[in-house]
Amino acid sequence: MRSLRPTGDSVLMRAPDSSKAPYVAKVEAIEADRRGAHVKVRVRWYYRPEESIGGRRRFHGAKELFLSDHFDVQSADTIEGKCIVHSFKNYTRLDTVGNDDFFCRFEYKSATGSFVPDRIAVFCKCEMPYNPDDLMIQCEGCSDWYHPPCVDMTVEEAKKVEHFFCQSCSSAKEKKRDGSQGGSEESELKVELKRRKR
Ligand SMILES: [Zn+2]
Ligand SMILES: [Zn+2]
Repeated sequence: MRSLRPTGDSVLMRAPDSSKAPYVAKVEAIEADRRGAHVKVRVRWYYRPEESIGGRRRFHGAKELFLSDHFDVQSADTIEGKCIVHSFKNYTRLDTVGNDDFFCRFEYKSATGSFVPDRIAVFCKCEMPYNPDDLMIQCEGCSDWYHPPCVDMTVEEAKKVEHFFCQSCSSAKEKKRDGSQGGSEESELKVELKRRKR
């Protein structure tokens, strides 16, 4: 407890059922009586995807949490330790994900089961939001990201690919090549047109 900053820290709290994973909470305030005893913490719960009304979806990461609107007061004794709830961006940049690393990209309204934001960018042919646990490869043409299995590739193959073009970008490239017989002539043609205008 002594190492806990007054507010904003994320903590793991013992679940009533000890066989279950600990709860994760954001500490909003610490309250103690005048002697400093009976310490209580005011917390805001993080929900795991399986605890939400919609349940766990394919794009939810293993370490994903939703910051809920569910506040509570708990005895500080139930705190097991600190943890870190990263922003989505920071989480994707971690070299290694430790036991105490989590991430949060949604706020969750526990009464309605709705999320903030209620829209999220989707990627790949399957039009899924990004799950940071899944490897994706980026197309050098359209910059969209793809799951290797969605583009008939294994994860191992995808790791070795140096330049990836998705199906629509590589067929667009083919068409261009057929039509103008090479990119260099195309750029020369543009120069010619400019000259004629003058
Ligand atoms: Zn996909
Ligand atoms: Zn592409």
